[in-house]
Amino acid sequence: MLFRSDSALYYVTAHEEAHMWLPMLVGVDEKRYAWMEEGSTSFNENQARKEFFPGFDHDDPDRRSYVNVARSDREGEMMRWTDFHYQGARVPASYSKPATTLVALRRMLGQKVFDEAWQRYIRTWRFKHPKPWDFFHMMDQAAGESLDWFWYTWYYTTWSLDQAIESVEDVDGGVRITVHDVGNLPMPVYLTLTLEDDSTVEAIIPVGIWLAGSRTATTVVDTDGTVVLVEIGSGKSLPDVDRKNNVWQRQ
Ligand SMILES: [Zn+2]
Repeated sequence: MLFRSDSALYYVTAHEEAHMWLPMLVGVDEKRYAWMEEGSTSFNENQARKEFFPGFDHDDPDRRSYVNVARSDREGEMMRWTDFHYQGARVPASYSKPATTLVALRRMLGQKVFDEAWQRYIRTWRFKHPKPWDFFHMMDQAAGESLDWFWYTWYYTTWSLDQAIESVEDVDGGVRITVHDVGNLPMPVYLTLTLEDDSTVEAIIPVGIWLAGSRTATTVVDTDGTVVLVEIGSGKSLPDVDRKNNVWQRQ
C-alpha cells in the first residue's frame, strides 16, 4: 500500500482547485498546448504551497525535475502538439518546464509586475479561448517591450540555460567579472557579490549581449570592500543546468 503525506493531499487539492481557473474559466486548448493548462496550474499550485507551508522554495521541485530532463536527450518543445510528443517528453513539457518558465519570467519582470500581469491575463481571458500568442502579448505589454527572444527560446526550442563565471579580476575600486554563456538559452545574468564583511552587492548583465551573438560578457562592478564570492543566480530562480560553474571564490 502506498502512503502519502498530508502535504501531498494539500498539493493535489490545490492543483485540482487551481484547474477551476485554467482551463475551466480560461478555456485554453489543453489538447494542443497542455503547457497552457497544466504548466499554469502547476505554477499556481506551487504558489498555494508557499501560502500553506512557508519557509521552503516550492518552485524548486519542478525546477529540479525540468533540469534533469534538460540534461537528458528526452526533452520535447513546449509548443509541440501535445499528443505528438515522443515517449516521456509530454509530461515535463506540460508541467515542470512551463511552471519553471513562469518563475524565470517572474525573475525578469519582478514579482509585482509579474503578479499583476498574470492576474490580468486570467481576468482578461476568462470565458474566452486564448492562444499562446495572446499570453505572450499580455506579458510583453507588462514588460513594456517585446520578449520575442524569450518566447522563442523557451517555448519553441529545447535549448537549456548554462551560464558560467570565467574569471574575476580585481580592478581599482571593484572587480571585473567575465561570464561565459555556455548554454544556448539566453537570459540576463544575475550576479551576487559577497564582500569580506558579509554584505552583498547585486549586478545584472542585460540579455542584449547574448542576443547580439557574443558568448562572453564582461562587467565591472564597483564595491566598497574586497569581494570574496561571486555567484550567478544565487536565488536559484533560473534552471541553470550546471551550477558547478556558477560560483567563484577568492582563494
Ligand atoms: Zn493538472
